[in-house]
Amino acid sequence: MAVDMVVIGCGVAGLSAAVSAAEGGAKVAVLERAPMAERGGNSRYTEAWMRMKTEDEVADDLVDLFIERGHGAIGPEMLKEVSNDYENWPQNVKAFPFNDPEIVMALADNAPETMQMLRRHGVQFTFHSPMLLQKGPERMGPSGGGLAIVEALVAAAEKLGVEFHYETTGRSLLLNDAGDVRGLRCWSKAKGNFALEAKAVVVASGGYQGNLEMMTRYVGNNAHLTRPVSPGGVYNKGEGIEMMLALGAAPAGQFDMFHGEPVDPRSPRHEALIAVVNYGVLVNVHGKRFMDEGSNRYELIYDEVSWTIMRQKLGIAHLIFDSRLFDIPNIRTRIKTDQEPIRATSVAEMAKKIGVPERALIETIRSYNAATVDGDYDTTRLDDLSTEGLALPKSNWARPIDETDLYAYPIMCANTFTCGGVKITKDAEVVNRDGAPIPGLYAAGETVGLYYNLYVGATSVLRGLVFGRQAGRHVCSTLGLSAPDSQSAAA
Ligand SMILES: Cc1cc2nc3c(=O)[nH]c(=O)nc-3n(C[C@H](O)[C@H](O)[C@H](O)COP(=O)(O)OP(=O)(O)OC[C@H]3O[C@@H](n4cnc5c(N)ncnc54)[C@H](O)[C@@H]3O)c2cc1C
Repeated sequence: MAVDMVVIGCGVAGLSAAVSAAEGGAKVAVLERAPMAERGGNSRYTEAWMRMKTEDEVADDLVDLFIERGHGAIGPEMLKEVSNDYENWPQNVKAFPFNDPEIVMALADNAPETMQMLRRHGVQFTFHSPMLLQKGPERMGPSGGGLAIVEALVAAAEKLGVEFHYETTGRSLLLNDAGDVRGLRCWSKAKGNFALEAKAVVVASGGYQGNLEMMTRYVGNNAHLTRPVSPGGVYNKGEGIEMMLALGAAPAGQFDMFHGEPVDPRSPRHEALIAVVNYGVLVNVHGKRFMDEGSNRYELIYDEVSWTIMRQKLGIAHLIFDSRLFDIPNIRTRIKTDQEPIRATSVAEMAKKIGVPERALIETIRSYNAATVDGDYDTTRLDDLSTEGLALPKSNWARPIDETDLYAYPIMCANTFTCGGVKITKDAEVVNRDGAPIPGLYAAGETVGLYYNLYVGATSVLRGLVFGRQAGRHVCSTLGLSAPDSQSAAA
């Protein structure tokens, strides 16, 4: 079997690549490891908020945040080079793991046309503020979440003649004598091992959140105590990234980082968030506090909170609070678990119920309460209501906890997606360690390394859609097909 382009992965990134290439006239195949009913990886489960003001404009802070957070350790001499034309950058700058302006501007500049592509295929948008935000720009999302994008793009792709191969795994790249990519070795339950020849391969198979060996290799201690936040993430086992690195792709993105979320481990729901960790007190299995729960607004600290919980013994913590939490307007929309909180009328009873040493928990809650001071408690801002005299302070929203009216949620760290991947050009071509594109090899979505230090919220779906489309268009142009733009491809 031979096609022009094979795509590994049926999430937003893979589908965007498939549709844009097929619109340009390319013969495309999509491989999906999951059964048809579960296709779509993480994209199937996401609300898919995008950091966009309107369909025509990304949010004002998008470019700055990527540049600020995406610098890693690049030296000033190298950084100077990026003011020259990309063509003239030294090879080590092109291959360096940082968010260069080519990539960031490609993301921002191509977002509007990518949204038009979605709209042409029936995706509608909504502009509700996501529940996590206390302030900040409005974000745009598809009505019906990521699943709506997956369904719309699969339908479009099928209409355009794209072949879908479910329960089929891409395992390694096929090369010609010169070492250029010429297809894939695959495996499926039905066929066993087989080869698929293609002039181009788009690796859109997600991160390595579903692969414990890679998680342990890159993230380290206690990586076994986190789990993918959605069933879709379990299919992302990292071989797409491994096959590109094995071919000499330049690594990019922070390999030891993943986007973490605090969830209730008891809940069978995906993303069973407890997005109120900054309004209570967190204790570990020793009954002790271990971090400043109120150091900043929730959306700026929840990664850190999640990672810190993972590093605790057994990777578990309990959030302790009293019933006044439920007086905060709309607070229940921030608690997405379907499990009831644990309740107790004394600290000793709570200690027993959550399985931590009684004396330690009593000491923790008493010393915390004793360190709280009078002041205006205000959840709409950093209220500076800080504990006084504690070695480990709580810097905001520190009001006493009523010891006769206690609530608790268990919390573990869930893994939304991993951040290690490969470096690409603005057209999603995978760059080798000498800064040159690897002929025939493209990456999009979680396989692209774009996040360092802290995830730029509401940009992963956008990254997948934009660079997937860029890959599809570039493949068309290398095949001499006319890559569609949003106007000419209008239905
Ligand atoms: C609950 C949740 C909420 C989120 N909220 C947001 C949000 O609001 N905004 C945002 O921007 N991001 C959000 N994210 C992150 C975002 O959804 C994902 O990072 C993004 O959708 C990933 O798209 P992708 O196409 O790269 O990967 P995926 O959608 O994960 O697709 C990868 C596909 O590859 C398949 N696959 C894997 N390995 C192979 C292989 N070897 N061979 C064949 N197929 C393979 C998988 O089965 C899967 O279908 C959220 C994620 C989750 C889970």
